[in-house]
Amino acid sequence: MTETKTSTDTPTEAALAEAKAKAGDIVTCDACPVLCRIRPGKTGACDRYGNVAGALVRMDPLVITQRAIEKDGKLVPFMGQDWDGSVLSGATTFVTGIGAGTTYPDYKPAPFIVSSAIDGVDMVTVVTEGIFSYCGLKVKIDTDRYVGPEQAAVRVKGEQVGHVTTAEYGSQMLSLGGVRHLTGGSKKEGTVTCETLLTLCNKGAVEMTIDGGATVLVQAGKAPVINGAHEERMRVGCGSATIGMFARQWFGHADEVIVVDDHITGVLTEHQAGRFLDMKPAGIRVRGRKSTPGRYFQVANPGTGWGGTDITEPLDIIEKIDPKTAWPGLRLLMVSTTGEHAGWYVLDENLVPRPAEMPAPILKVVDRIGENCEPALCTVLFMAGAGGSLRAGVTENPVKLTRSVRASLTRVTSGGAPVYVWPGGGITYMVDVTTMLDRSFGYVPTPAIVGPLEFTLRLDDYAAMGGHMDNVRKLVEVAADGRVAMSAWPRENPWPLQPPPARSAAE
Ligand code: SF4
Repeated sequence: MTETKTSTDTPTEAALAEAKAKAGDIVTCDACPVLCRIRPGKTGACDRYGNVAGALVRMDPLVITQRAIEKDGKLVPFMGQDWDGSVLSGATTFVTGIGAGTTYPDYKPAPFIVSSAIDGVDMVTVVTEGIFSYCGLKVKIDTDRYVGPEQAAVRVKGEQVGHVTTAEYGSQMLSLGGVRHLTGGSKKEGTVTCETLLTLCNKGAVEMTIDGGATVLVQAGKAPVINGAHEERMRVGCGSATIGMFARQWFGHADEVIVVDDHITGVLTEHQAGRFLDMKPAGIRVRGRKSTPGRYFQVANPGTGWGGTDITEPLDIIEKIDPKTAWPGLRLLMVSTTGEHAGWYVLDENLVPRPAEMPAPILKVVDRIGENCEPALCTVLFMAGAGGSLRAGVTENPVKLTRSVRASLTRVTSGGAPVYVWPGGGITYMVDVTTMLDRSFGYVPTPAIVGPLEFTLRLDDYAAMGGHMDNVRKLVEVAADGRVAMSAWPRENPWPLQPPPARSAAE
């Protein structure tokens, strides 16, 4: 039997025209693998791209920074001056990757490849936003307080977003993000990890809990808040270092000083510093494992008490007082590595330490410990690998970009901020988010973090490495684009357009 189509299952001419018109209004964003189909007047899943009158548009402006220029012998900010494209040069103007857009997976040249001249040298900056599934944060929390055991899970909204790593000198390190949490766990784990990274990268605060440890509020450039307590001081050094620094100032005013520290507790008269001063042994033995004379490990458990221990009563770390060596009237100072905790004791006739009023010369040194402590801060370093397909947006022969970076012919910056490029393979870099402009980072829901990147090198080196020369645009052309936002250059950052030494990338 032959099937006959009726008018009800055949679209009318008008319906076809309407469907075609509607389809024509939708634009497909190809800036990341999500490939959002965006209706007119709407934005895609990440809000970075939108459909404006049928065109795919990066919704945030491209950020161009300008540094102060010299005028009449004075430095004046360029911002606010009459706009004169003719004076734009690499000496004052730098195009950042913030708002540049992405070309993932880089089957086309980077969105902006900008030429400029500086000191008579033609330079080029390849400007893009990288989409990083392989990225994470290294977080340094200046504190002596115990935040949790090494390797413990760090959680946000119950999801693991990272782990505790090593304790460094006066700081606790966390590793957050990474491809395993972004893509290797549940969808919720990936989403929460991405949100956490994005908030911290954009200098926001995130509260996180550590399994078997503390609740920590982290924000780049701000003091950490641990179990609700604002950390104020980063310790002056370990207990042993504190003894070394202040031994001379205690000498003659105290007979023994014990600096309580979770890592290395120092005992002055046993310590090399006390011996150097010919101090008489005091016969006070502290708990824990003796490492070297006057230096003791594990005098207590880690905690939020004195010197990062769980000690709230300092005399608890005294194991014994030797009656053959100690004497009635012996003057004992117990102090923490920040000077926040201190107690003064005098041994009675039974050699029991009795609290007493702290003498002024001792108080002065305790205060000096505090004075020498730096403010406790959180440091957030964004770390990502730019050595993958992103390089194809720079050159048709990607390995030449890596070699050029290795040879210091290409300078890598992130939103104009200086980065540290790791030795070894790839272009794996770290950047301190506090050196970047506000809201430099974005995200895509794959999930991944979007971060600005710029590669700056001599134009002739760029040509030699197989750069996309047909896509090079002059600085004035880019600056004249209506989609730009001007921003003042952060003066603390080195100027990225300083030409590197003349050597060919082809060497
Ligand atoms: S998530 Fe954003 S970048 Fe990715 S396709 Fe959608 S709009 Fe484009």
